[in-house]
Amino acid sequence: MESGVPEDAGHGFGPGPLFERRAEIDLSAIRDNVKRVIELAAPATVMAVLKADAYGHGVLPVAAAALQAGAGWLGFAHISEALVVRDAGITAPTLAWLHTTDAPFAEAIARNIDLGVSGWELDRIAAAAKQAEQPARVHLKIDTGLGRNGCPPAQWERLLRAAAAYQDEGLLRVVGVFTHLAVADEPDRAETDSQLTLFREAVDLAEGAGFDLEVRHAANTPAILSRPDAHFDMVRLGLGMYGLSPFSDQTSQDLGLRPAMRLVARIANVKNVPAGQGVSYGLTYRTAEPTSLALIPMGYGDGVPRSAVGGPVLIDGRTLPSRGRIAMDQFVVDLGPQEDPAALVGREAVLFGGEGPSADEWAAAAHTINYEIVTRVSPRVPRLYVEGTWGPKDV
Ligand SMILES: *Cc1c(COP(=O)(O)O)cnc(C)c1O
Repeated sequence: MESGVPEDAGHGFGPGPLFERRAEIDLSAIRDNVKRVIELAAPATVMAVLKADAYGHGVLPVAAAALQAGAGWLGFAHISEALVVRDAGITAPTLAWLHTTDAPFAEAIARNIDLGVSGWELDRIAAAAKQAEQPARVHLKIDTGLGRNGCPPAQWERLLRAAAAYQDEGLLRVVGVFTHLAVADEPDRAETDSQLTLFREAVDLAEGAGFDLEVRHAANTPAILSRPDAHFDMVRLGLGMYGLSPFSDQTSQDLGLRPAMRLVARIANVKNVPAGQGVSYGLTYRTAEPTSLALIPMGYGDGVPRSAVGGPVLIDGRTLPSRGRIAMDQFVVDLGPQEDPAALVGREAVLFGGEGPSADEWAAAAHTINYEIVTRVSPRVPRLYVEGTWGPKDV
């Protein structure tokens, strides 16, 4: 074999690494989640938000699945991320909204990537449009209260005038106005109302300035699900497309969504130990009685948070907590006494997804949110694209 890599790693199931440790991505779940949100958001268009390698799910397969399911737009933080879908031949309307002075604006314009503009970018984008000999398509962003990117309301009219001047010169077209919400995951908070009021005012001013807007957009996943009055012409769907809930009191299932990622590893070792056995760096866990310890070959080098305490793992029909510290490559689960520990080597351990625990449970164990749990799964974990569920299961 030319590569020197055997096609069958010896267990009879095919190539090795995917079977040792993998993130299975269920593209049928991605499509179903997009379709569900299309129904909820209609007549608004759905933008599939694919930043950060599609929240760890893999940008190209997810882009294809989202478009197949009827998403009308693709959204990214950085131009560099958006260029990846263009390089793959995907021509769908695409927006990138987070830039630095080194951003490749001319290339974005030449490749029909719409650009979010909060302020300083406008002059740079106009200059890049001149260079690209093509007008830029821009979406002006108003900061209605999040306090991150976006133009402060006090400077909005100035930004509109500057954009109108460039538009008159033929260097750009303002095709969108947008904002981002701060507390939509807590639907009872009043700040969303004031953000939406400010947004409507900003849209009115933009239309009054003569811009012929194609899309007004404000809603992220929590607002899509809880604030129909935030839908406008387009909604920006991230978390929900991956099947996760943005709400602390509602599960994916409650929302009619299906988690798309299943994180699995084969147990690397199981051994019997006496009572009092310390486990992992710092010896923060000690066995209470003679027991069997399973070694799970995933750690913070794979994106499993080191801060997690008691993260749940499904093994052999039982959900058990991780014990001791998560290391770079591995962590330990206490199985209780096993008659034949060696027989468990090679069994699958499901960290989350499918029939296993949820990303939300790992988020709780690590004091973070489900967004971070899936997004941080590192490139060391092979992604396997599936439709529904997939074998092999246990050897
Ligand atoms: C990430 C992001 C989204 C998607 O948010 P979700 O809550 O994951 O749906 C939408 N809009 C902007 C500007 C974002 O940065």
